[in-house]
Amino acid sequence: MVFNDYNNDSVKRLAQKFDVVVIGGGPAGSAAARTLASLGRSVCVIDKSKFPRQKLCGGLVTTRAKTNFETVFERDWRSDLFVSSDSVWFFQGEKKLHDKPTPDRGPPLFFTMRFDFDSYLLGLAKEAGAVVFENLTVKGIDTRSKKVVAHNGNEIGYDFLIGCDGVNSIVAKTLFGTSFDQKTIGFGLEVEVPRDHLPNHNDIPEVDFGSANWGYGWTFPKAKSFTLGVGGVHRLNPNLKQRLSEYLSLSRNELDIADYKVRGHFIPFGDYREKPGNECVLLCGDAAGYVDPITGEGIGHAILSGYCAARAIEEALDEKHFDALPRYLELVKPITKSLHQANLFRWMIFPKPIQAPFAWAFTDAGTLRSGYLEILAGHHEYDHLYGLFLVQVRKAVKKLGRKLIGR
Ligand SMILES: Cc1cc2nc3c(=O)[nH]c(=O)nc-3n(C[C@H](O)[C@H](O)[C@H](O)COP(=O)(O)OP(=O)(O)OC[C@H]3O[C@@H](n4cnc5c(N)ncnc54)[C@H](O)[C@@H]3O)c2cc1C
Repeated sequence: MVFNDYNNDSVKRLAQKFDVVVIGGGPAGSAAARTLASLGRSVCVIDKSKFPRQKLCGGLVTTRAKTNFETVFERDWRSDLFVSSDSVWFFQGEKKLHDKPTPDRGPPLFFTMRFDFDSYLLGLAKEAGAVVFENLTVKGIDTRSKKVVAHNGNEIGYDFLIGCDGVNSIVAKTLFGTSFDQKTIGFGLEVEVPRDHLPNHNDIPEVDFGSANWGYGWTFPKAKSFTLGVGGVHRLNPNLKQRLSEYLSLSRNELDIADYKVRGHFIPFGDYREKPGNECVLLCGDAAGYVDPITGEGIGHAILSGYCAARAIEEALDEKHFDALPRYLELVKPITKSLHQANLFRWMIFPKPIQAPFAWAFTDAGTLRSGYLEILAGHHEYDHLYGLFLVQVRKAVKKLGRKLIGR
C-alpha cells in the first residue's frame, strides 16, 4: 500500500501504530521493511520524497551489494537496470597509471541510476506488505511515547524505530544531538553528462586519484549518460568545485563545468557509529555512517545493515523484549570490520607524501591494481590489499638497495 494523500481520514486511522516504523525508503529502509514485512510484522516506511526520486550517487553497485541484494530481496539480478564493466582505468590527473585497462577480466562492476534502482527496491518492500508513506517528512521523534511526528501533524506509533534516513538523519540527531561529525565527513560533487558529450568514452569506468584530497574523481558509465564527480574528506577540500572543474577539463574529458548542473551531497565516511542506536531505535546505512572511506561505497552496506536491523528486531519481538541493539551490533560486524580496515588502509593511499610511491606501486604492479579493483568491486576485503601492498613495498626497498650498492 502506498499513501501520499494525507487529507484522507483512512490514512490517519491506518497510520496509528506499527510494530516497526522505518524512516527513509532508500536501500537501507527498503531492505529493513521488506525483511520485516516478509516475516509478517506490521511495518511502514516513511519518506519525504515521492518515488522514483533523485539521489546523488555515482551509482556503482559492487558484487558485494549484488550479493546482499540477492540474499535480502530474494530476487534475480535485473540486468536491465545496470551497465556493467569488468575492468577499470586508473589515473592520477592527466597521467594514466597503466597501458591496458585493469585487469583484462576482473570481477564485474555495475552502474545504475538511483532514480530507478531505489524505486525498484521500495517496490519490493511494498510487494512484501510494507505500508509506504511517501511525501511525508518526519519532523520530530518522541522516544518516550514512541511516536514519530510528521510535517502535517500526523503521529505514528512504533515498538521499534529504524533510522534509514541518510546522512542528515533526524533519528541520529534525536539520539545523539548531531547526525555526523564535521571533522571526518566526506563531500561529493557530481554532474550528469549525456553520452554524446564524451564520444571517446565507453563502458570502462575511470578512477582518478589526483582529483581530490583524501578521495578521488570518477567517471562512471550509465545507459544514457556518464556520471562525473569528485569527492573526498570535506574539510580537506575547501575548493571542491574548482577541483571538479579541473577534472572535467582534463584532456580526456574537455568539458566545461558551466555547461552542467553541479550537485553536491555529504558522504558519511570515516566515522561510522560505534553505537548505532539505543535499545529500540537502530540506525542503518548512511544514518549510521556505513560508507567505505576509500571507495565511497554505501549501497551494499545500506542493504545489509537494513537487513541486520530487521533480523535483530524480529528476534527481540519474538523474545518479547525491547533491546535489539546488542544483537544488531553482532550482526553488522562484517560491515564495521571492513570499515575499520578501510579507515586504516587509507593512510597508505591518501597522505600527500605517500601519493607518489603509491602511484609508482600502482603503475608497476598489475596485481595491486587488480587487488584494488577487487576491493572496488566488493570482491575482497582490505586485508587482501595489505598483502599485495607489502609485496610492492618489499620490491621497492630491494630496488632501492640495488641502486645504492650500484648493481
Ligand atoms: C556524490 C556521492 C556519490 C556516491 N557514490 C556511490 C557509489 O557509486 N556507490 C555506492 O555504493 N555508494 C555511493 N554513495 C553513497 C550512497 O549514495 C549511500 O551510501 C546510500 O544511498 C545509502 O543508502 P541509505 O538507504 O542509507 O540512505 P539514502 O539512500 O540517502 O536514503 C535516505 C532516504 O531517507 C529519506 N529521508 C531523509 N530524511 C527524512 C525525513 N526527515 N523524513 C522522511 N524521509 C526522510 C530521503 O528522502 C531518502 O529517500 C555516494 C554518495 C554520494 C553523496
